Formats: sequence, C-alpha cells, structure tokens
Amino acid sequence: MSFTLAIVGRPNVGKSTLFNRLVGKRLALVDDQPGVTRDLREGAGRLGDLRFIVIDSAGLEMAEDDSLQGRMRRLTERAVDEADVCLFVIDARVGVTAADEYFADILRKRAKHVILATNKAEGRAGEAGAMEAYALGLGEPLRLSAEHGEGMDDLYRALVPLAEEFEAQNVQQTPETDVAVEDGEEVEDWRPSAQKPLQVAVIGRPNAGKSTLINKILGEDRLLTGPEAGITRDSISVSTDFMGTPVRIFDTAGMRKKARVTDKVEKLSVADGLRAVRFAEVVVVLLDVGIPFEQQDLRIADFAETEGRAVVVAANKWDLEEDKPEKLKELREAFERLLPQLKGAPLVTVSARTGKGLDRLHNAVLKAHEVWNRRIPTARLNQWLGAMTEAHPPPAPGGRRIRLRYMTQVKTRPPAFVVMATHTDKLPDSYQRYLINGLRADFDMPGTPIRLTFRDQG
Ligand code: GDP
Ligand code: GDP
Repeated sequence: MSFTLAIVGRPNVGKSTLFNRLVGKRLALVDDQPGVTRDLREGAGRLGDLRFIVIDSAGLEMAEDDSLQGRMRRLTERAVDEADVCLFVIDARVGVTAADEYFADILRKRAKHVILATNKAEGRAGEAGAMEAYALGLGEPLRLSAEHGEGMDDLYRALVPLAEEFEAQNVQQTPETDVAVEDGEEVEDWRPSAQKPLQVAVIGRPNAGKSTLINKILGEDRLLTGPEAGITRDSISVSTDFMGTPVRIFDTAGMRKKARVTDKVEKLSVADGLRAVRFAEVVVVLLDVGIPFEQQDLRIADFAETEGRAVVVAANKWDLEEDKPEKLKELREAFERLLPQLKGAPLVTVSARTGKGLDRLHNAVLKAHEVWNRRIPTARLNQWLGAMTEAHPPPAPGGRRIRLRYMTQVKTRPPAFVVMATHTDKLPDSYQRYLINGLRADFDMPGTPIRLTFRDQG
C-alpha cells in the first residue's frame, strides 16, 4: 500500500459508491438518504496497477456543535489529516453548493493533495456543474460516474504522478527510519509501530465470537457509539493498542456493537472475511470450540495459507469446556489431520467473553508476525543446506544426481527461498517437503507459510 486516499464531500454526492468501486465490493452502504455513511471506513483500493488505502469519510457536515454532525466532521478532518491525497467529490448535477465551498476551504487549509471530482457526470449530464467546479480553485475537476464506472481512467492518470512522488519519499525516508542492518544486509524494519500497526484479520464462521473478541480488545468505549442506531455497522477496520502492540484489526462483520444490525445490513458472509485476509499480515482464525474445524473454518484457514499470511488459530469459548486437557488434545489432533498445510501454526485457547487467554493470543500473533518477517542470512542457509543434503541426499533418477548447489532467501512476508539446482524437474515433491519442514524446525518458523522454489542450473 503506497499511499492513503480519503474520499471526502458532503452527503449524497456518491462517496460510498466510489469507495465501493475502488475497493471492489459493496462494503459501504449506499442510500439515497443523506448521511447514511457515518463512520470512517477503510478498504484496500486498486485502480489499474495502483494499490492504496481508501478512506470513505463521513459526509462533511458544517455543524460545529457536539451533535452527530459535529462528530462526523471531526472524524472527517481526521481522515483528511491521515490521508496523503483527498478526493473531493461534488455532485455534477447539483453544481457547487455553499457546503461544497465551506469544505473546499477546509481542504485547502488541511489537505496535502486534493483531486477535485464532479460525480454523477455519466453521459453528458452535469457539464454545467463541472464548469462551476473550476471556480473552487482546486484545479481541473475530473468528471466521474461512480455508478457507471466512467472517468476511472482519468482518476488513474491523476493518481499516478502522486503515487510516484510518495514512493520516492518513502525510499528517501527509509535510511533513517526504516532500515536496520543485520549480518551486513540491510533489512526493512517490520516491527509494529504507531505509524505501522500490525495488521490483523479476525475471521471465522458466524457466531464464532469475532465481535466479542474485537470489542474485548478494543475496550468498551473505543468504538464510536451514540444513540443513533447503526453508526458503526459497516466499519471494516479499526486501530487500537493490543496489550502494548499497535494493531489495526480488520474484520468485516465484527465491529458492530450495540447497534446490531437492523433493517438492510445483515451479518456479512465468510466471503467478506476472506477479503479481510488480503489486508492482513497475521490472520486469526477464530473457532468455536463447540464446533471446531468445520468446513468453513478449513476453507478460511486454507485461504490464508494460500495468500501467504501468517496464521494463528484461536479456539474460542474455552470457558465452556469442562475437560480442558482432553479437549486440547483433541483439537491438536484435528488440527494436524485437517490442516497439514498449516503445520506448526500456533493453536491458542481463548475466551473472548472473559478475556482469558488474550495474552496468549497476543504473544502468538506477535511471534507469527516476527516469523513471517524473518530473514535468514545466506551463509547460514547454505550451511544448513549442506547438512540437509548430507543427511538425506536428493535422489539420482536414471543414475543422474540432482545437485542442490546454493540457496538464498529472496523475500519475506512470507519467507521465500530459492535453491539453485540441477535437474530440478526430477526432484520429487517429498524432497521439497523435507526441506520446508526442515527450515521450519531448524530456524523455528511456526505459523507462517514457507515458499521454496528451485531454479534449474542445467
Ligand atoms: P455519499 O453519501 O456521498 O456516500 O453518497 P452515496 O454513494 O450513498 O450515493 C448517493 C446517491 O447517489 C445514491 O442513490 C447513489 O446511487 C447515487 N449515485 C452515486 N454515484 C452516482 C453516479 O455516478 N451517477 C448517478 N446518477 N447517481 C449516483
Ligand atoms: P461473531 O458472529 O463471530 O461476531 O460472534 P459474536 O461475537 O456475535 O458471538 C456469538 C455468540 O457467542 C454471542 O452470543 C456471544 O456472547 C457468544 N460468545 C462469544 N465469545 C464467547 C466466549 O468466549 N464464551 C462464551 N461462553 N460465549 C461467547
């Protein structure tokens, strides 16, 4: 994610519709009633080859008092302050209103970069509005139709130079802030910080206890609550401090509190949970111990592995278990049998309701994240490879020895290794598994997928 884009504008101009289009799914609510989008939402946006975080701000209201409007305005100002770029949306059909002007003023003062867009401009609609928008003094307005997907190419072209600029800034900043030197190699500092919270997704079947767990972590008053129903009903991420670690928790369904879903918003499905995986560094697969490792749980865990995320399995509602040692044994067996691809991933027991075991969960998440970022020096890897091939030489199909010559780690998050070898097409899968399991055991790397590929050197 190279930069953060906040979509701002008064209610009903089409911000949520645009957010949905950039994030690729109907996560935000769309409604004709002004002000239905009342909390900040974040999503992973993509446009062409650009990847960024999108914040869908609340409608920019002018009220200064402590009403809902006032709170929304403050939330939005926060979004503007957090964003690298603000996409300021006005309604092309309505033209520039007093509210638009008021907020243009705020944006001029607070925003780092503003892209002005007139929305609902499909076909020839709203040409007059687009002309009026020039007068805001925020540059040439883009003409968009969020609903029909028009003008997205112009938005892309407006974002590219900014994205490049941010990229360059990041590279320049890196030497002081982000790089440590280990074994003579420069490595990025991946440790969680307030600026870079550890990204966690909590996923699991409905009723596994995701909301309860997240609210426990957040503490009672952390969510924006108020007498208005549904205020946080479709939030998808929230930042907090989890036992001293800055985290950003992604969950598509777990953040609703009192404002339990009424009318049209239902519990989001497992498919939404799968999306949260893509944002995450560490995925917590939350099981209900009463019905663990059901088909849905297995699919989710497998998906997290395929996506290359660090995985922690947490068995929830542990307070309900009577024979804990026996149950734990059962869980471990089932885990090994049903999820061999997650061999070594931590299994912790928690009670989201009482808070018991949250420290274990915290430790497991931190450790999984550390392993996911682990970098092993090339010299050590090659020593290790020598020992492994000596203990168990690769086969010699047709009398021709497969030689594993050299090994290096090409990337982290998750750790990926390349082995230079001869006749790699003849190397059996079992030998690859032998090496992967060996890496896991010898370098203590539980809970992370390990990628190992062979490059043929003839
Ligand atoms: P928000 O309050 O700014 O988040 O606005 P919404 O995204 O909820 O949209 C408000 C209304 O405008 C909804 O009825 C949308 O369907 C409609 N709308 C959004 N984008 C477009 C567009 O490009 N063209 C037209 N004609 N309507 C749109
Ligand atoms: P979600 O659908 O995954 O968000 O699940 P919820 O958080 O809504 O929880 C579903 C039900 O399980 C609720 O009735 C919770 O009170 C209950 N629950 C959640 N965590 C625990 C727990 O640790 N122990 C017990 N006994 N019940 C729990």
